[in-house]
Amino acid sequence: MNAPHRHSGPVLEVNDLKKHFAITGGFLSTVVGHVYAVDGVSFAIERGETLSLVGESGCGKSTVGKAILRLFTITDGQVVLNGERIDELSDAALRPLRQRIQVVFQDPFSSLNPRMRVRDILAEPITNFGLAKNKGEIDARLAKLMDKVGLPRDAVDRWPHEFSGGQRQRIGIARALAAEPDIIICDEAVSALDVSVKAQIVNLLCDLQQELGLALLFISHDLAIVEHMTHRVAVMYLGKIVEIGTRDAIFSAPMHPYTQALLSAVPVPDPEASRERILLTGDVPSPINPPKGCRFNTRCPHAFDRCRSEEPKLRMMAEKHEAACHLHDLPASENPVRREYKNNG
Ligand code: SF4
Repeated sequence: MNAPHRHSGPVLEVNDLKKHFAITGGFLSTVVGHVYAVDGVSFAIERGETLSLVGESGCGKSTVGKAILRLFTITDGQVVLNGERIDELSDAALRPLRQRIQVVFQDPFSSLNPRMRVRDILAEPITNFGLAKNKGEIDARLAKLMDKVGLPRDAVDRWPHEFSGGQRQRIGIARALAAEPDIIICDEAVSALDVSVKAQIVNLLCDLQQELGLALLFISHDLAIVEHMTHRVAVMYLGKIVEIGTRDAIFSAPMHPYTQALLSAVPVPDPEASRERILLTGDVPSPINPPKGCRFNTRCPHAFDRCRSEEPKLRMMAEKHEAACHLHDLPASENPVRREYKNNG
């Protein structure tokens, strides 16, 4: 179903992406400051790979997703889809490429048009992107899509309000698949669902990914879900990636104090296992005026003088594992995050 594509490199590359929102004020609406929502983010996603972008609310992860979807103009950097820069394309030039990148939003109750039957919701991308020649072909595609997302074929004649939250999210996934994309951005796509339904939708996404070779950018604050379905994880704090690596590296040997704190709050299923809880003090600082030096220094339990003046850069800690923290310049015996991570779970 997914059309083969010749590009052999990553499906998506994001290079030094920045999005600064201007704050205006006063009688003449002059610019009085900026919200540094995303401030230099880079990553790549291969075909058939899931990269999860995680962090607390307000860290900029959803802004990254919206920037990739070109819901606004970016401040700086590059967004490269199948080897082609899309950040600088005109709307007209971008239109045919929109097929390749689709999105599933968080709220299954507001993301489907209540005045359209499922048939019309799913037929829209098929028609817009010229994927079927006639009604017979559209109907055949609709039947396949309903099979793929585990809904009865005759449900295409029903209205969105006739479905549960989980079923609506299946329709949202079917709508994304209808365009035959190379990558789907899932923006908190299971956050609004009940626990058991969450697991079903995540399993469906994983199955579809394997079957269709899709790339997924999974934006989520829920590390317990991410642990079960991702290949790699990028941890964001105040507009920057502070750590990125394979799932095993991030979950079993996190190298950044912020990642360690986030993981310490994830419930461990085995009651015999222990995971030392690291409580972060204070709120996330404002992205209007981020702290100097390391942005995490106001909440980091290990901050020292250098952290308050010099910003740490992401650097390689192990194969396919990067973190941005000055502690790794200290001798191993003085580096608290190098000590064995207390996760027996
Ligand atoms: Fe903490 Fe300093 Fe590392 Fe930032 S650079 S995470 S403040 S120890």
